[in-house]
Amino acid sequence: MEYHPGGEDELMRAAGSDGTDLFDQVHRWVNYESMLKECLVGRMAVKPVVLAKENHEKKPLNGILLKSKVPDLPVKEISPSYDWFQTESLVTIVIYTKQKDMDSESVIVDYQDGCFRAEIVVNDYSYLLHTELSHEIQEDITARVTEKTGKVEIILKKKNNVSWKYLGHPLESHNSFTAHREKGLYYRKCKLISKVDVTHDTKLYCLMMPPGTHLQVPIGQHVYLKQTIAGAEIVKPYTPVLESLHSDLREPLHPHNKYIYVIIKIYHTGLFTPHFDCLQIGDYVSLSNPEGNFKKSQLQDLEELFLLAAGTGFTPMVKILNYALANITNLRKVKLMFFNKTEEDILWRNQLEQLADKERRFEVEFILSEPTCEWIGKQGRISLPLLSKFVKRSLENSRVLICICGPAPFTEQGIRLLKDLNFSQEEVHSFTA
Ligand code: FAD
Ligand code: NAP
Repeated sequence: MEYHPGGEDELMRAAGSDGTDLFDQVHRWVNYESMLKECLVGRMAVKPVVLAKENHEKKPLNGILLKSKVPDLPVKEISPSYDWFQTESLVTIVIYTKQKDMDSESVIVDYQDGCFRAEIVVNDYSYLLHTELSHEIQEDITARVTEKTGKVEIILKKKNNVSWKYLGHPLESHNSFTAHREKGLYYRKCKLISKVDVTHDTKLYCLMMPPGTHLQVPIGQHVYLKQTIAGAEIVKPYTPVLESLHSDLREPLHPHNKYIYVIIKIYHTGLFTPHFDCLQIGDYVSLSNPEGNFKKSQLQDLEELFLLAAGTGFTPMVKILNYALANITNLRKVKLMFFNKTEEDILWRNQLEQLADKERRFEVEFILSEPTCEWIGKQGRISLPLLSKFVKRSLENSRVLICICGPAPFTEQGIRLLKDLNFSQEEVHSFTA
């Protein structure tokens, strides 16, 4: 159990029963052609390697790396390990994270100019495989995750059907398991595919990732966009959205792991956005790995979800709203209170109203700070009277979450007011820088 890369959980799946089917499912490659013919029978003539204990050095062993404990992790959390095997046309890299509830969002893969990089996000840590592959591969890479066991399979298609003797030469930080905060951001160049007006100053941009990239931005997380402006690298965070509010109800036009949509407001006097808006279709912009501290698990078992957004602070709400309505079975109500200056500033107003008409659990209310005299809705800024009516539990002790995002002073004010209304820290999630 200690040695097996899949760990106890994987072994227990076959304990006490005939494990043949399971073996065929997960260990088909442990057969004569792909593995065993490389093995020799007999006694080893050289002295066995003694593993260095002090420096946590990892030694390869028949392609499987020995587990090593990450020093500052709780004892139970152990570094993932990897293995690889091949058929005539494919190379499969298997990473055993031993973590439950992993999903395809946890796997970020990039392949460019012969360099392969896979980052597997495990809570606040990530496991990195970084290698110059020994042979060329095609660019369409598949990543599969078995949620129950945390096994990640990355399938590479060989360019030439030759047998690989080794996976590749290790590059910087290969086979490391470190805290996110210790890692620099990794960027890849994405192509601008389309830009569509959302309001007078805000657009929906679609970016296409390079063919060798597999990346899905988890809900509630943001990415950084980077451009060189007047000789300086300028980096700003943006929260990807869906191509529309209803995309879960039909097949998305573009797969989530290849295309990214961002809604960006252009500030004419801003540093980044006027330059970003000058990009032509077909131009490139650098896009980072996702970051952020929102966890999907915060939505688990929710009964009521309240979203407070101001201006482009609406962007994190898009995926949250969509995910909650589609996946949270106990959810009784989702209410969005959306603050803007004028009617012209309201993002996706039609879509929000259509969703509210169609989905009985969803309600939206628009509040304007600079309305015209024709506006018959509510007006003003975030305030106690507005909030106390809006964020009301419909049942005593119901499980609620309130998400808040907008200009920093708006968010800070909202947090203070929600505290005054006796919501606990766990019940409020604020999106800040
Ligand atoms: P900036 O140069 O930052 O200027 C913005 C405005 O402030 C301009 O009007 C400028 O004139 C004014 N200004 C700048 N400095 C000063 C100053 N010292 N005094 C007074 N006024 C000043 N934005 C989106 O549109 N969509 C998103 O999805 C999105 N997601 C975000 C996610 C996160 C986590 C965060 C923190 C921010 C997000 N933002 C988003 C905001 C975005 O990162 C940028 O701040 C925004 O695009 C403005 O960038 P800029 O460089 O063009 O403007
Ligand atoms: P905006 O149009 O300037 O303002 C939107 C609304 O917020 C307006 O009604 C405005 O009222 C109100 N507001 C502004 N400051 C306020 C304050 N101090 N107190 C109460 N209400 C206030 O907004 P925007 O230009 O779209 O800017 C959106 C902001 O959201 C940016 O700062 C961006 O960085 C942030 N954002 C953060 C994230 C994240 O994840 N952290 C994601 C997306 C966007 P007034 O007209 O009275 O000012």
